[in-house]
Amino acid sequence: MTGSTRGVTSDERGVLARYASFLPVTPATPRLSLQEGDTPLIAVPRLAAWVGVSELFVKFEGMNPTGSFKDRGMVVAVAKAVERGARTIMCASTGNTAASAAAYAARAGITAVVLLPRGKVAGAKVSQALAYGARAIALDTGFDAALDVARGLTARYMVELVNSVNPHRIAGQATAAYEICDILGDAPDVLALPVGNGGNISAYWAGFRRYREAGYTTSLPVILGGQAAGAAPLVLGHPVESPDTIASAIRIGRPASWETAVAAATESHGEFRAVTDAQILEAYREVARREGIFCEPSSAAGVAALRDSVAAGRTSADATCVCVCTGHGLKDAQFAPGLDDQAAPLPATVEAVAAALGLAERS
Ligand SMILES: *Cc1c(COP(=O)(O)O)cnc(C)c1O
Repeated sequence: MTGSTRGVTSDERGVLARYASFLPVTPATPRLSLQEGDTPLIAVPRLAAWVGVSELFVKFEGMNPTGSFKDRGMVVAVAKAVERGARTIMCASTGNTAASAAAYAARAGITAVVLLPRGKVAGAKVSQALAYGARAIALDTGFDAALDVARGLTARYMVELVNSVNPHRIAGQATAAYEICDILGDAPDVLALPVGNGGNISAYWAGFRRYREAGYTTSLPVILGGQAAGAAPLVLGHPVESPDTIASAIRIGRPASWETAVAAATESHGEFRAVTDAQILEAYREVARREGIFCEPSSAAGVAALRDSVAAGRTSADATCVCVCTGHGLKDAQFAPGLDDQAAPLPATVEAVAAALGLAERS
């Protein structure tokens, strides 16, 4: 094939194609893909200085097709649902799961029903789910009760549950751990990430263990789970009745994957750390300003937790660390600075703008 300028089509990319041998893929599994996965692992030296470690990378999961890591697991869950003949999938969601389910249902030609806690989902995520053609139902409750309804419905009716309690979701999400190891050549010393339902931390831990068992790596990371202080059941050790935080993607009081999340933290010699909304928003701004990576506020909880852990002397400054930034900043930009906060408008002249900026004239 000389002189061909043809690239790789979507069927040959994505997590089902790339990590088929690590996934529950059979000849009957449709090769569904929106080219999810293969997200950047970015060396972030200026952020490392702020966090207080010598070597830090951001795994930017906002670069997935719908803007969050949920796509890795959703592609597997939807492909398996289609393989079994399902025509409708369902999830409860704080937003990103709904957007992802809606996209992969559209791609597979089936229907997605998403149950959303009313007034608690970032607007762009609702728009995404609706744009992909999902049937969206607002429920007058928080996420935890919405998940109870989704579980009840899917147990009784002909609809497939695609929340992260679906094991195919976890299997797909584990591919992010494989990618990190493939790039670094071994597992990092520390992996920090935000934790809501606990599905993702469980998936990473399963992925790192599986890769070591397969002989691709020699070590396992310490896993650090960041929870918002107002929604920190895994730090407190008991459910939180009315979880409260600006980080809407992790505003969860009863994590569905409680046991496996706790196992990931304890078996890896890691822990859960609570970080305040102020710490989360500070980390969110530093990630963007220092490195040009715009993630959503929830995504920065892992960065905030790592910095807190270093300051407390729990994480050594010479550890090689990876922070997972789970979703894209454009999804939940209400806490980003707006132009109106900056300054009053100027007259539209070269002189006025030059004076305001204090620019030096060309000689
Ligand atoms: C879903 C989500 C989380 C939390 O992941 P869990 O698997 O529920 O712990 C964190 N950040 C973002 C952006 C998410 O969409």
